[in-house]
Amino acid sequence: MGTEATPAAGIKKPVLTPKALIHQKYGSRACYRIEEVQHAVGNVCPGLVIQQQVRSLYRCCLDLPDLSVTSDTFTRKKDAEQSAAQIAVEKLGIQAKANSSTPEEAWNELVARISGLFTDEFLSSSHPLVGHFRVALRKEGDLFGMIPMSVIAACDVKVNSLCRIIDPKAESDAHIILLLISKAAKVSGSVCIIDDKFWIWKGGPYSSEAIESSLHHSSDCLESVNIEAIRIPCALEEEVGTLSLLVSDTKYYMDEIAKKLNVNNSSEVLISKTVGKASSEIKLYFPTPDGLLSASDSSNDPLGIVGDVKMGPLLNKRASYLSGQNIYGDAILANVGYTWRSTELFCEDVSLSAYYRMLVSKLPDGSYKLSREAILAAELPAVYTTRSNWKGSFPRDLLCLFCRQQRLLEPIFSVRNVNALESSPGFKEINTSELTEVQYANEVLSGVLDRDLDTSSGFQCEVKIFSKRQEVLIEYSSADTYRKESDAIQSSALKVLAWFKKYFKQLDMPMEELSSFGSTDNIKVHPIIFSQELAASSFVYDFKQMYITRNCSSFGSLFKNQSNLILQNGMILLNVEGPDSGVYPSSGSLTCISYAASLVREEDTAKIFLESNDEFEFEIGTGAVINQIEACVTQMSVNQVAQFVVELPSRDMILAAAGESANSLSQLSLRNCFLEFSVKVLCVTEPLEDRMEKALFNPPLSKQRVEFAVRHINESHAATLVDFGCGSGSLLDSLLEHTTSLEKIIGVDISHKSLTRAAKILHQKLTKNSVMQTCIRSTALYDGSITEFDSRLFGFDIGTCLEVIEHMEEDQACLFGDVALNLFCPRILIISTPNYEYNPILQRSASGTKEDDLEEKSGSCKFRNHDHKFEWTREQFEQWATNLAVRHDYSVQFSGVGGSGDVEPGFASQIAVFRRNPSHWLEEKCLPDGDSSHPYELVWEWTNKSL
Ligand code: SAH
Ligand code: MG
Repeated sequence: MGTEATPAAGIKKPVLTPKALIHQKYGSRACYRIEEVQHAVGNVCPGLVIQQQVRSLYRCCLDLPDLSVTSDTFTRKKDAEQSAAQIAVEKLGIQAKANSSTPEEAWNELVARISGLFTDEFLSSSHPLVGHFRVALRKEGDLFGMIPMSVIAACDVKVNSLCRIIDPKAESDAHIILLLISKAAKVSGSVCIIDDKFWIWKGGPYSSEAIESSLHHSSDCLESVNIEAIRIPCALEEEVGTLSLLVSDTKYYMDEIAKKLNVNNSSEVLISKTVGKASSEIKLYFPTPDGLLSASDSSNDPLGIVGDVKMGPLLNKRASYLSGQNIYGDAILANVGYTWRSTELFCEDVSLSAYYRMLVSKLPDGSYKLSREAILAAELPAVYTTRSNWKGSFPRDLLCLFCRQQRLLEPIFSVRNVNALESSPGFKEINTSELTEVQYANEVLSGVLDRDLDTSSGFQCEVKIFSKRQEVLIEYSSADTYRKESDAIQSSALKVLAWFKKYFKQLDMPMEELSSFGSTDNIKVHPIIFSQELAASSFVYDFKQMYITRNCSSFGSLFKNQSNLILQNGMILLNVEGPDSGVYPSSGSLTCISYAASLVREEDTAKIFLESNDEFEFEIGTGAVINQIEACVTQMSVNQVAQFVVELPSRDMILAAAGESANSLSQLSLRNCFLEFSVKVLCVTEPLEDRMEKALFNPPLSKQRVEFAVRHINESHAATLVDFGCGSGSLLDSLLEHTTSLEKIIGVDISHKSLTRAAKILHQKLTKNSVMQTCIRSTALYDGSITEFDSRLFGFDIGTCLEVIEHMEEDQACLFGDVALNLFCPRILIISTPNYEYNPILQRSASGTKEDDLEEKSGSCKFRNHDHKFEWTREQFEQWATNLAVRHDYSVQFSGVGGSGDVEPGFASQIAVFRRNPSHWLEEKCLPDGDSSHPYELVWEWTNKSL
């Protein structure tokens, strides 16, 4: 099997399989025969007349020159083969052959290999190089039989790997291989080269039969075709574009490329490794740097070899980046070449979007991040057929990447087996009709991908995309089935990506149209969450792609006269203004900033305003924004303002990102332009509290608070509830999921942003039919301060105020207590707040520090959350609440959630339940009349029309 090139010597590789060991020793003399064994799967249920299932099992016979063995039976052919090979390996005591690991051995092998390529025998093989030989043998005159050395370097795996052992630099520089080949050719004696030229040919003549049969072999069926290729200029200011190559069986494609590269002939064209998948023919072609051979000839020692050729200025950065190799001068990216698969020339277009797509797959090193637009601009094929037909990053990986960039959770792929034999017993691989949800970790997936189930089963895959708060944005499901689980997954991921792409072309789509827009592509959209998550600031993401030159010196000199100049991460921080509030964003904290971005031109210092956002929230340390923003923000404290300047990403990165609008953008000169950001840190939410609560309590404290409230609601048969400081509506939302006596629920908060979020969440839930079994008739959200009285919320059955008072100044909290019990007068009021005494336990669990460290620190215990203005001990809380109750004719009981009230230091969250005394004379409080007592602003309202 030609394509399975023997593992390259000297390259780190997995332990050889038994089959590979046999191959090493016997090559084609090892003969495997597979026998099919019919195997009846026994009836699982004796007595039931169910037709017996018959399945095939395989056994393998391996015939070697001096031994024959037969394996056990297996469900997969390959397992049977490996097993047979294993038996043979054991019987013969074969050990892995030591690779030619020393450079000297490799050098000798290289010389032998080069000679071996120029023989009659080689000419009749099916090696991809033979295609090149055939063209060369057709040439007339001086060039008869001469082939470019670069072709050997590019097409022969063996030569390539030997060169890498001799000189590890060959890995990144194709011209080193060329120099080694020419040296080896000189030594071999049977092969000819000319000084200073990169042609190589056979010393003596080929036999006429060999030439005859080789020329005869060629099928000459490729008529002249034009294929699209990509030109990647060396100069960064020149754009990447397409060009067309004329190829045919009779005309040498290397000649055509030489012409396009403006070099004399095909021997002056260097070829990169394949870009992307090893099985593709996509390679970069570029001119041989001048003076290459003379640069190296000074050394006579074959192993001391190549001195570093100084070609720095010629380095083609974009092409080098793409290939992971040093590429010099203008380069052409083309998909053309001879393959093992056929004697014909293989060629295919490489489109500009395919180029972008390849760039996108180049993410892992982290320093070059491409934007959402780049993923979307990279035109993906409409369908996924098989793994081997796919070029570049797989759709599933792209989708995961996309979700990460959008600050969404990893997508969930649910694979379902829809096997026709679903009900038959005995197929353990098949998980009947049950939908299993698996969050595929990469490793797991790659295991799955290679699993080739030998059954007639089919797989369907559903995809769900979630926000960071675990809300579903979209769900994809379709009836398409695939033979392989992995194909189903990749296909679905591709469909979802394609749909996103479609969506981003019409970002301004009204929310009402989203559902129908999704349904044509089998996508169920949850419009509110979806638009909330995806319509967010685009600019900060768009410029995520950083092709920023690491060398900032010329850039820095521009701003030399600025004081406070900090140069790092390819950015210049101009200044930080405002007093240090002492509250810093730190890793993991949710940070809210406002920012403005403008384009600044060097010559006129005029600013072109690009985008601003006055409330942009992101989590520090997740890579959700460009690293310059993060680097800037982490040097600031809340309320400070800063400006910084960054170099523009390279032009073609911008164009890749710009997608459709690339054409109009390309009119604008971006030369000498910089991006200036002005940033203000608005607030920082320390996630520690949540993390601690989640780490230590199951169910989480927040859930326990809800359950606590539900108990009191039901015990008291409350019909009306007001949640003071409802935040994003977590309590109200959970109440909709419980069966309670409630008919009316109201939330109040001063954060408009939280209320908007609450409105979206509640609205979505209420318009879904599933919650209609509750008796809730109306819900509303009000914007206002709970220290002010609003008569619309007077005399409710129950009031809740969970984890709110500590967010107010102490006097305000006390004011709220009075307003609540004196004016709002709920029958029951539940107030919860952290128990300060519990903090050491939370902090210990969060930091994992040992007990004795903690003794020292416990004196200086911090609050649980930066936004907390105070945290009370049990005594402080109880004293406050008791006095409050007495003042307003209420009784009070203390309780809590998290931990136990009987064990020190008490509950994690302490709760006071106030009850209005039955004697309490409500009517006396008579509502103050008129609008004057309606200070709250109604934000959102819902009434159940079906009740
Ligand atoms: N009760 C919610 C939110 C707690 S966070 C929950 O348990 O999840 C505290 C909330 O109190 C924030 O949303 C904040 O905006 C709100 N808040 C603080 N001071 C307020 C005031 N004076 N009036 C109304 N809401 C207030
Ligand atoms: Mg709190």
